[in-house]
Amino acid sequence: MSGGQVSSGPGTDDVGADVDCGSAIHQLYHYLDGELTEQRRSEISEHLDYCAPCASAAGFETELRQVIADKCKDHVPDTLMQRVAQQIEAERRKQVDIDPEREHPE
Ligand SMILES: [Zn+2]
Repeated sequence: MSGGQVSSGPGTDDVGADVDCGSAIHQLYHYLDGELTEQRRSEISEHLDYCAPCASAAGFETELRQVIADKCKDHVPDTLMQRVAQQIEAERRKQVDIDPEREHPE
């Protein structure tokens, strides 16, 4: 085994002093959720710019989220729909206290 020296990339040492891979990945979820400050976001995005492993991880996460969002749109279980409908109905009755028999034909 040869040493514990990690040398990846073109050998530039001064890039991304603020964000290393660990913290970039750690904050990736917050980054994607838009929960970070402007400055933090730009730091992470800068890191993703030159760090291929982190960039691909971020790309994968983004893709995954899109797939999940699509699937959720397409296949919402009936039971969930019913529960949501019931919740909405319950909220409506609480908030809008009107006679349900008074219907507007339009
Ligand atoms: Zn990285």
